[in-house]
Amino acid sequence: MKTVAEILQQQEFAVQDLILLLNAADSSKHLLFERSSQLKENVLGKKVYFRGLVEFSNVCSKDCYYCGIRKSNTNVVRYNASDEEILEACRFAWQNRFGSVVLQSGEISSKAFVKRVEGLLKKIKQLSNNELGITLSCGEQSRDTFLRWFESGAHRYLLRIEASNRQLYYKIHPDSDNHSFEKRLEALQHLKETGYQVGTGVMIGLPFQTLKDLANDLLFFKQIDIDMCGMGPYIEHEHTPLYQHRHLLQSRKERFDLALKMIAALRLLMPDINIAAATALQAIDPAGREKALTVGANVIMPNLTPCDYRKEYLLYEDKPCLDEDAELCRNCLEARIELAGSEIGYNEWGDSKHFTSRISKLNISS
Ligand code: SAH
Repeated sequence: MKTVAEILQQQEFAVQDLILLLNAADSSKHLLFERSSQLKENVLGKKVYFRGLVEFSNVCSKDCYYCGIRKSNTNVVRYNASDEEILEACRFAWQNRFGSVVLQSGEISSKAFVKRVEGLLKKIKQLSNNELGITLSCGEQSRDTFLRWFESGAHRYLLRIEASNRQLYYKIHPDSDNHSFEKRLEALQHLKETGYQVGTGVMIGLPFQTLKDLANDLLFFKQIDIDMCGMGPYIEHEHTPLYQHRHLLQSRKERFDLALKMIAALRLLMPDINIAAATALQAIDPAGREKALTVGANVIMPNLTPCDYRKEYLLYEDKPCLDEDAELCRNCLEARIELAGSEIGYNEWGDSKHFTSRISKLNISS
């Protein structure tokens, strides 16, 4: 059997190699982290980019078995932040030189919702002199909606595949037209064709998930040639169907550790993409996101959701930053201090380098 040190010398990785990396412990795990950290610095430098996260609505038409804001969870008080509240959060990001914001919500595809997001995108561009970069994370939408939002100013889109193994996907989603695996794949394709920088990701440590599934998730990211990735540990939520399988879960610490190894392994596989330090990491370890930055992540998303709404956007238990004053954004200030080892790319979009080279190759060949 190969050693981790041997695998780290390779340029290409087979599924068995990735499984070995995800299994690494002790000194071989540290070797992996050293390599991914070094590679990140060589390819992307020391810069880390901020994306101010605005979770602007928890209204959702889906019933994903893992998610705390699923449609059928009647314990949740549904909200829609007002335009003014959303714009205020974006103004805060701009004034604090964050460079970009992420607008995230439950999945709604009504005409009114599509139009509202379109209006918001234009207003965010206006209030920031066209300076703020905008990522959307509003679920699956039609090709036409993706295009309208792109033309209104969004240039990145996050849509996690959640699990790239179709069988596993249907263990964590209802088998219905509204939750089709094929449609999710197709949406990722549409996003790419529209011209977005496309991000996807998975949850790590799900019940029924194997290391082979995770290794294949990494190969899936490579195969569909993503520009960005956001992935974090799965964390149970009492008011969701998946909670009944919690006895199958690894400890939170183990899921956290596995998530760091996934980030490190993905950095080896796709050195020039943007990788976000997911918020769920911080639900397990207060310094979780900063740890992710040291093993290969290069993007962090401080939460700018108006405080009153945060407790209603509980995707999972123990979600961090619920009681912070959005104005002070203490969390972000702390992050800045903790990030002393990295440089912060203030006022920069921090686009995916992978996207830039993907596009220039396309232009050459056409
Ligand atoms: N409606 C949007 C945004 C979903 S919320 C969409 O469909 O893309 C953002 C992410 O939170 C999800 O993609 C999912 O991966 C993650 N998430 C949801 N429930 C979770 C849980 N219990 N533990 C960890 N992550 C979770």
